[in-house]
Amino acid sequence: MKAVVYEAFSAPPRLQNVPDPTPVAHGVVVKVMATGVCRSDWHGWVGHDTDIQLPHVPGHELAGIIEAVGKDVTRWNSGDRVTVPFVAGCGACPECHSGNHQVCDHQFQPGFTHWGSFAQYVSIHKADINLVRLPETLDFATAASLGCRFVTSFRAIVDQGKVTAGQWVAVHGCGGVGLSAIMIANAVGANVVAIDISDDKLALAKAMGAVATVNATKVASVVEAVTEITHGGAHVSVDALGHPTTCFNSISNLRKRGKHIQVGLMLAENSTPAIPMSKVIAHELEILGSHGMQAHRYGAMMAMLQTGKLMPEKLIGKTISLEQSIEALMNMDKFDVTGVTVITEF
Ligand SMILES: [Zn+2]
Ligand SMILES: [Zn+2]
Repeated sequence: MKAVVYEAFSAPPRLQNVPDPTPVAHGVVVKVMATGVCRSDWHGWVGHDTDIQLPHVPGHELAGIIEAVGKDVTRWNSGDRVTVPFVAGCGACPECHSGNHQVCDHQFQPGFTHWGSFAQYVSIHKADINLVRLPETLDFATAASLGCRFVTSFRAIVDQGKVTAGQWVAVHGCGGVGLSAIMIANAVGANVVAIDISDDKLALAKAMGAVATVNATKVASVVEAVTEITHGGAHVSVDALGHPTTCFNSISNLRKRGKHIQVGLMLAENSTPAIPMSKVIAHELEILGSHGMQAHRYGAMMAMLQTGKLMPEKLIGKTISLEQSIEALMNMDKFDVTGVTVITEF
């Protein structure tokens, strides 16, 4: 099969011919029909992820058709249309037993712990636990765009933030994660304030349902601007970028007993950001993470997709070929991409 392979961190990947994968006993091989290009892939390629062993194939936001099924798999057949959370659970550890596969003790992550989906085929483990069936009406590119950003945002807003109608939600950073969070928070009835440094991205944020926007380069203080718009601070605030500044602002612009949710990754030199901890204590703030979403929670999100309450297809910026993904991956840190890029040609 064709696959995008890198043999050293930060060195340009190459499109190579490699042996087709075969399913493990509890897994399947999926013919990749679409796969998203994500900043997490860039982090992995640069060398920020200690799970990755070289040579490596990136890609974790995939949708496709089951090509081959391992002998122990009972729920799936060749030809089934599927996607998979980027954190797949083992099904046997205490976290999985409690239903929290997204923090499994023995995670399978395509594109990180194992070869991923920047390829014609990808091997997925523990298929009975982790695969999600795609509705016939959902196209592969949209399904892939759910990837990690949309589902992580869904978990952040719905399950972690427990956002309710009429609450103020601040979203810092309007890339794929941020736009997803805005759409989802708006769908559950919240008033969303979007913050970014790009007017183009803020225009998109408005199109996704933000009721107010703040260009961080044009105000003296992002925290003051959000506090004013929200009449005293956000109930829930998301750092969708993953940067010490957006993290600090997101916690600081909360009202009392508000919730900050960290969705953007904080790696390397950003891994220990400054936190306004005295405010966390005095205002009884909560700091939460969101790390993907379990396969068994996809149903709620799919129901909102099918009724048109959520339209992740609006987040797709452009579709590209596997060959073009190399350049897209290497430039993923430039932040000049609007919306989500999806590979649809293999
Ligand atoms: Zn587990
Ligand atoms: Zn991702």
